[in-house]
Amino acid sequence: MSTPFDPAAVIAKFVDNVAPFDPNPESGPVAVVGVRTALGEGVFAVGDHVIRAMCRALEQYHDPEDRGTCAECGSRRLDENLHCPDCGRLHGILGQVIAEHARRVAAADEPAEGRA
Ligand SMILES: [Zn+2]
Repeated sequence: MSTPFDPAAVIAKFVDNVAPFDPNPESGPVAVVGVRTALGEGVFAVGDHVIRAMCRALEQYHDPEDRGTCAECGSRRLDENLHCPDCGRLHGILGQVIAEHARRVAAADEPAEGRA
């Protein structure tokens, strides 16, 4: 766990930072966002501009543990060495070198038919 923080306070700050740039501040709230944790709670009635900004921020979030998808089995749990614990495939430079070597070995064993 990271250090404790108050999500309600974070959302309040986000609203404060973005709301002044609403091009139509008179249009009123279009969404209600609420959060309640052990540290506090907040309910925010926000306009179109703020809720769109909030969604854009969420869509842009990239988890530091997210290292992509396994090209072999589609698993999303690649470890820090880009190794897939589900099927054993290695990604990244080392993974490519190993995969190319395996392909060359396999190709050497195969009859040459079907190759351009
Ligand atoms: Zn895999």
